[in-house]
Amino acid sequence: MITGHFGLAAGAEAAEPRAPLWSLMLATMWLDVVFTPLFLAGVETIETPPGGGYGSSTIHADYTHSLVGALVLSAIFGAVAVRSWGRRAGVVLAAVAFSHWVLDLLVHRADLPILPGNAGGLPLLGFGLWRSPTASILLEAALLVGGVYLYWRTARRYTSQVRGRLTPGLVSGVILACGVVVLVLDAGLS
Ligand SMILES: [Zn+2]
Repeated sequence: MITGHFGLAAGAEAAEPRAPLWSLMLATMWLDVVFTPLFLAGVETIETPPGGGYGSSTIHADYTHSLVGALVLSAIFGAVAVRSWGRRAGVVLAAVAFSHWVLDLLVHRADLPILPGNAGGLPLLGFGLWRSPTASILLEAALLVGGVYLYWRTARRYTSQVRGRLTPGLVSGVILACGVVVLVLDAGLS
């Protein structure tokens, strides 16, 4: 899931128009941003079955995508954001960062630990919506369309945020187009 995360982030603009769009986009991918170096170091891994397609992978991101790890990383993101855009934006951005984990919880197979490093061997979490690619793709599409609509509605009201030729309609169109392309690539190639 990539498009769904970005859709939700765009929609969160409605909750706090003072948070720049890029900060919402970064927040929604924050857990995966931290995941990247750990993945490259071999600490966190992705297991894809042979010939596996969209949503077939089991992801062992035992630190960044553990419940407690995600809460801590989201809190750090929010705390940094408070300094730039105020307390409300910090809370919204922390919530958007944590929404990554909640959406992953819906789609992942049971591969999300509660404690970092799966300490204590507690049950792994994940509702496994990815077992139905159609349902997962529909969820992502709904998040994209709903999120972009909320963004567009909010951005139109706060046009002072949008400078020059970057009108709310244009920005919304670009997010929508990118979201569709990423979803098609994700569903078709992965
Ligand atoms: Zn993730």
